[in-house]
Amino acid sequence: MSKLIKPVASNASNRDMERLEPSILKVLIDVLRPRLVRIYHLLRDRDGLAVRLGMEGDAGGVRYTAGGAGNPWLSLNTFPEQKALLERNCGGPITSTVVYFVRTMQPIFNGHETIGWVEIDTETPLSLADAKLLAGLLKINAHHLAIVDANQKDPLTGLLHRKAFEEAFHRLGAPIERLLVARRDDDRRQAPADDHTHWFGVVDIEHFKSINDRLGHLDGDEVLILFARTMQATYHATDQLFRFGGEEFAILLRQVCVLDARGEFERLRTRVESLLVPGIGPITVSIGYAMIRIDDSPIAVYRRADEALHYAKQHGRNRTCSYERLLRAGDIRSRPQIKVDAELFERRCNTFVQ
Ligand code: GH3
Ligand code: MG
Ligand code: MG
Repeated sequence: MSKLIKPVASNASNRDMERLEPSILKVLIDVLRPRLVRIYHLLRDRDGLAVRLGMEGDAGGVRYTAGGAGNPWLSLNTFPEQKALLERNCGGPITSTVVYFVRTMQPIFNGHETIGWVEIDTETPLSLADAKLLAGLLKINAHHLAIVDANQKDPLTGLLHRKAFEEAFHRLGAPIERLLVARRDDDRRQAPADDHTHWFGVVDIEHFKSINDRLGHLDGDEVLILFARTMQATYHATDQLFRFGGEEFAILLRQVCVLDARGEFERLRTRVESLLVPGIGPITVSIGYAMIRIDDSPIAVYRRADEALHYAKQHGRNRTCSYERLLRAGDIRSRPQIKVDAELFERRCNTFVQ
């Protein structure tokens, strides 16, 4: 992977870019009258830089292709010309599959990273004025994304804050649909082994107050930052990482096999356990996680994961506990959801996001 590319789309930017796409496409279609305009998203995935066709449009209108968000992520290597231009941080003409049209590519920037590109097919090469218009439009877009991105993040750690979790949750895609196998608390059936779904985990740094008390608040902050970096090094851009408040963090994992979920959360716990922090001594975390269900809500899954976390802390600490496993083993009991939860969750979000 070239070091020249400044990629790694942050999730917040990607989400907001998707919201802006229809307006950007519409302006380009109205002004440039192209045969086709396409927007591609770029993301660092588990296997490197991944590319996905986001949206496309022409004189007939703007549309998501093949289900929009359902489009497959492909390796950037399958787009060699675009990759070469991205490496030089610039746009320009690329080969069109249709000989009668000129295809121009322009990177999309969010203020600090490249998060995708626009491809425009026109009958003649873009005039200087058109190229300036395109660059100007994408510049305004970059400024907007940079502001939105900053607003969705916890200033100390740079992770998404709690309020962003609700939105991230509601934007989780199709994989849950495939888990329509009845999955109620009292259902003891196991998921099929090759099933993938989304997971939510809450993480609590243990004895954090004593770190503050012994070394002071600033060193406590350092530990929070170090922990956030460890989270980022453990997971990928498609996994979303949050600071929920104080020394409590959260992870939203997408499309992880039922059999692998525990390992994904354990990876973080063991990494933290083996951290050598000069002057502080060992740090441990407990993690509680739960599977996201078809009819779930952010509050409901938070409660389940939090219950598993509470169990982990009550039963030895430095542990990772699954809500579903605890339930199956009879170690915890299913509780009906109560409405007041929604208000409580909202209040806690507002307390943290200032
Ligand atoms: P446990 O092992 O049971 O999890 O206990 P704990 O000490 O980790 O947790 P507790 O809830 O007792 O204390 C959390 C502390 O975190 C108290 C609070 O002052 C501190 N804290 C909250 N936000 C921040 C922050 O932004 N920076 C620092 N340095 N400390 C913070
Ligand atoms: Mg705590
Ligand atoms: Mg704690």
